[in-house]
Amino acid sequence: MAETALMHTYGRLPIAFAEGKGSRLTDTEGKHYLDALCGIAVCGLGHAHPAVTRAISEQAARLVHTSNLYRIPLQEAAGQKLAELSGMEKIFFCNSGAEANEGAIKLARLHGHKKGIEVPHVLVMENAFHGRTLATLTATGNRKVQAGFEPLVTGFIRCAYNDLDAVRNILERRQDVAAILVEPVQGEGGLRAASDEVMNGLRQLCDQYGLLLMLDEVQTGNGRTGTYYAFQRFDWKPDVVTTAKGLGNGFPIGAVMAQGAAAELFQPGHHGSTYGGTPLGCAVVLAVLETLEKEGLCQRAQQLGERIMSGLNQQLTGLAGVLDIRGRGLMIGIELDQPCGELVQQALDAGLLINVTAGQVVRLLPPLTFTDQEADQLVEQLSQLIKNWLATRSPS
Ligand SMILES: *Cc1c(COP(=O)(O)O)cnc(C)c1O
Repeated sequence: MAETALMHTYGRLPIAFAEGKGSRLTDTEGKHYLDALCGIAVCGLGHAHPAVTRAISEQAARLVHTSNLYRIPLQEAAGQKLAELSGMEKIFFCNSGAEANEGAIKLARLHGHKKGIEVPHVLVMENAFHGRTLATLTATGNRKVQAGFEPLVTGFIRCAYNDLDAVRNILERRQDVAAILVEPVQGEGGLRAASDEVMNGLRQLCDQYGLLLMLDEVQTGNGRTGTYYAFQRFDWKPDVVTTAKGLGNGFPIGAVMAQGAAAELFQPGHHGSTYGGTPLGCAVVLAVLETLEKEGLCQRAQQLGERIMSGLNQQLTGLAGVLDIRGRGLMIGIELDQPCGELVQQALDAGLLINVTAGQVVRLLPPLTFTDQEADQLVEQLSQLIKNWLATRSPS
């Protein structure tokens, strides 16, 4: 491939898109694609959603940026809307998922110090993904993300995912844990959901030990799993929630949300961001949240997820080489029995955008605005691709 002036951080596919509308993309050669990835769970409303386009263009023509040194009415309105939909109380806007998690980690440390813990630790999970900044790559449970960037940040303890006993054992032994940071459904880690029992248990343990329960909803948030935020399937609230992907439908913006005592931890001077919560970004957040609500997209994500899961189960369950089909809402994974990265290119050739994560898990993150017909097309095309791949791959 031609050398570019870009740092070589990605092994990019040799394709570029020129245009998008809803669930469809067109590449620079004029070829059309069905997008079942939406920029890794970002464009939940599909490409060029009119409400988002309008918010961006109208606000860009009026006022893009001032500063957090002044009141920003659109930030206050977006924060209010986010608080209403999530049930959380206080919001801090930032620009990405990693930054949102940095904010959460800072909250955990404030909380720990306030409790008199000299060196507060955050409990994080195996196979977690929390971002690429130094603290969040340390929190990430994937050696590949960390290797070469030592020294890592101190103050993290790793624990098995979806294993309440493992968490309990650590908390019984150590007095220096201030918070638990966990994804309700691991995205990068292979589309694994923590069981309801474990999530309920984590809330209980956090209450018992006075820890902050901090959910990384960067990927699960904004309607993707069938509720605005994944925790809303439970009858309790976390102390801290982070989100980003999906919140701006492609406009880079993230948020740290908190409730209860955690909502009062940040005081003036503790945290900040030049760009966080600009009038432009917040106009987009308002448009996204209002669209999710008005178009009933959480419920729709739930329905679509069930439709796709049941189609995939009909086509693939029981086939040799298919280990598991799992997911929640529109976060769906198909685990195969060996690395299957080549499926990404094969799908592109067939006009379909998918992803493979954790080596051998086909990952689907379609827009919440998919039609039934698009869902069925995805199931048909992908099942055929997987069947062909299973038939021609080298024996394991
Ligand atoms: C993508 C992701 C992040 C990192 O978000 P960036 O915007 O890339 O910094 C963090 N946590 C989870 C769960 C993610 O899926």
